[in-house]
Amino acid sequence: GWLKSMSSDGEPKYRSELQKEIQADKIEQNLRYFSSKPHIAGSTQDEDVLASHIYQTWQSSLHGAKIYNYTVLLSYPNSTDPNYVAIVSSDGVESDVSEKVEKILSADQNDPTVVNPFNAYSPAGVIVGNPVYVNYGAVEDFHYLTRNLSMNLTGTVAIARYGKIFRGDKVKNGQTFGCAGMILYSDPADYVAGDLDRVFPDDWWLPGTGAQRGTVLNTDGDPLTPFYPATKSAFFLDEKDINLPLIPVTPIGYNDAEKYLSKMAGNEAPGSWKGKLNLIYRVGPGFAPPLEERKLKLYVKSYNVKRTIRNVIGIIEGQYEADRYVVLGNHRDAWVFGAIDPSSGTATMMELSRAMSRMLERGWRPRRSILFCSWGAEEYGLIGSTEWIEEMGKVLGPRTVAYLNVDLSLAGNSTLRALATPILHKLLFEAAKKVENPNPEEVKAGRKTVFDTWVANMPSSNNPSIPRVGDLGSGSDYSAFLQILGISAADVRYTYDQKYALSSYPMYHSVYETMDLVSRLMDRGFKYHQAVARLWGEMALRLSDDVILSLDCVQYAVTMLRIISDVEEAYGPLLHSKSITPDSVKEAAKEFEAAAQALHRRAENVNKVNPLEVRKINDQLMLLERAFVDPLGVAGNLLYRHVIYAPNQHNIYAASSFPGLAAALFDIENDPDQETRWLQVQKELSILAYTITSAANTMRDHR
Ligand code: GLU
Ligand code: CA
Ligand code: ZN
Ligand code: ZN
Repeated sequence: GWLKSMSSDGEPKYRSELQKEIQADKIEQNLRYFSSKPHIAGSTQDEDVLASHIYQTWQSSLHGAKIYNYTVLLSYPNSTDPNYVAIVSSDGVESDVSEKVEKILSADQNDPTVVNPFNAYSPAGVIVGNPVYVNYGAVEDFHYLTRNLSMNLTGTVAIARYGKIFRGDKVKNGQTFGCAGMILYSDPADYVAGDLDRVFPDDWWLPGTGAQRGTVLNTDGDPLTPFYPATKSAFFLDEKDINLPLIPVTPIGYNDAEKYLSKMAGNEAPGSWKGKLNLIYRVGPGFAPPLEERKLKLYVKSYNVKRTIRNVIGIIEGQYEADRYVVLGNHRDAWVFGAIDPSSGTATMMELSRAMSRMLERGWRPRRSILFCSWGAEEYGLIGSTEWIEEMGKVLGPRTVAYLNVDLSLAGNSTLRALATPILHKLLFEAAKKVENPNPEEVKAGRKTVFDTWVANMPSSNNPSIPRVGDLGSGSDYSAFLQILGISAADVRYTYDQKYALSSYPMYHSVYETMDLVSRLMDRGFKYHQAVARLWGEMALRLSDDVILSLDCVQYAVTMLRIISDVEEAYGPLLHSKSITPDSVKEAAKEFEAAAQALHRRAENVNKVNPLEVRKINDQLMLLERAFVDPLGVAGNLLYRHVIYAPNQHNIYAASSFPGLAAALFDIENDPDQETRWLQVQKELSILAYTITSAANTMRDHR
């Protein structure tokens, strides 16, 4: 009886029931509720009203809920002394003053608690300097100005366009190259693919009055309590001893940016630096005659303050393996109304939890536990999820099957987009094949499932019969799960057509991210949200109900061997010229491949009525990702410890494969200390070979 039922996979009937139970109109109601008011981290609306609502919902419908509080450093603009940018004369007269608020384009954006555009953790300050246009503010952009044009950027005010890389990395670069301040603006080239005179509210493109808020913190978690939870017993560092941005920075819209860029002096910017504003892009420094005596002024009065933020965790207790967790998460805090980021995800998570609660009522119990997480203060630097990992790491590390993140449900309605470690790719594909295509046109064209449209839009470059799954960098709440604990993770959403070449969905972090935008221009009928909920639920049920975990260790070997051949292709001759080869890493990866194949075979043939055998195989699969964690951090950075994938050192949004090696090789030819750098390359190859061999050893039977 008991042994037999515990050794059979969760019934597929429950999976189709879950899909049927997930209702689009309920997601729409949820979104209306969650995006009705601004709900920035630390506000009453986010930490009290919405957090309590979620807590009560889960407390009454699941097996329980818990709130985790953390007191953390946040940042806000001064509501009575707003930040701005202006052109200033030598006697202090200001002209071309930027908009202090984003223009309200329809009544639903009008709320007294809207927080004006700002960049979190910018220091306060008033900077007056020569403007310099630095393109995206990437390292290569700064190198172009300083190396190719021999410019000295000391004391300048950099104007950087948003896009391509994380804004915190732009600010870090500006600081490194001597800029005194930075202005971040959204160029239509990156946020408007349509006609510039048909922008929101007529279409979903960013209007010239919109500005992108966002953190410029370059660490994760509460800045005052690195690596330890900001709980009651915490030791808080002093603000002056931590690594906060040092130069003032503020965001503006393209209507304002045009006023400054159109008046600049200096060389014409290279072709790839040109945006879509109707002006000649010049790099500066300074303004052109007759304004050559004028400077650019940056006025920032934001301040940092400690506030209490909350995570809400809801739990469904597993029937046979309650101590194994499938963790689902989404952040709750938004810069303003957050109808896309993150409430489109919150609306979906709440519907998924409701649908699962209905199944519980009908007698379903998952084999393993399922945790729903509503994170606080993600926007400031992944604070809620990171603090929770810091507090609960000893429990989560050995017991978590996987972490499935949905930040926003949709950035567009063209196709699914997924990021995941290789061990979850197969499950993603299988789940996407089970979800009905939300687009009736696609169904008519014969693409019946989410998978069909996905593979048609984003085929893998190595194998066009499967979709491309991106690598996890950072920028959302999966980061600490993967990078600190080594928990296998995925992040999914629907997204826009990649042919637009946008830097993100146009209204990202602006006041215009409202219910009206989503329900009128992005997902009429909420079918795309529903598809995301179904996919998320399908994956969660597989991970919680299958007797043998659907984690594909063999795919890890395949991708690792591919990374090695990419390294050989890109750096082979250079390495060879120093008599270095990646052969030891390759040998380790081949051992890993053999061990993975053997584990896979044992998983297929395991005696499912032997609970110890089942647990043994599952633990090996569940813990494989942990073996990639180097406790000393990648290249010494303790925030990022996954040796195979970590956020790119110059852009945390992107992933870098073999990140330690990539960092050692970056721009190596320009390093004056060649010897040290090449020793670093050898050290990184050795760490890789060791770590991959260790991971292979964890997959062996028992010897
Ligand atoms: N998701 C937020 C952003 O992109 C926070 C990212 C981070 O701090 O890592 O601005
Ligand atoms: Ca902390
Ligand atoms: Zn988000
Ligand atoms: Zn965001």
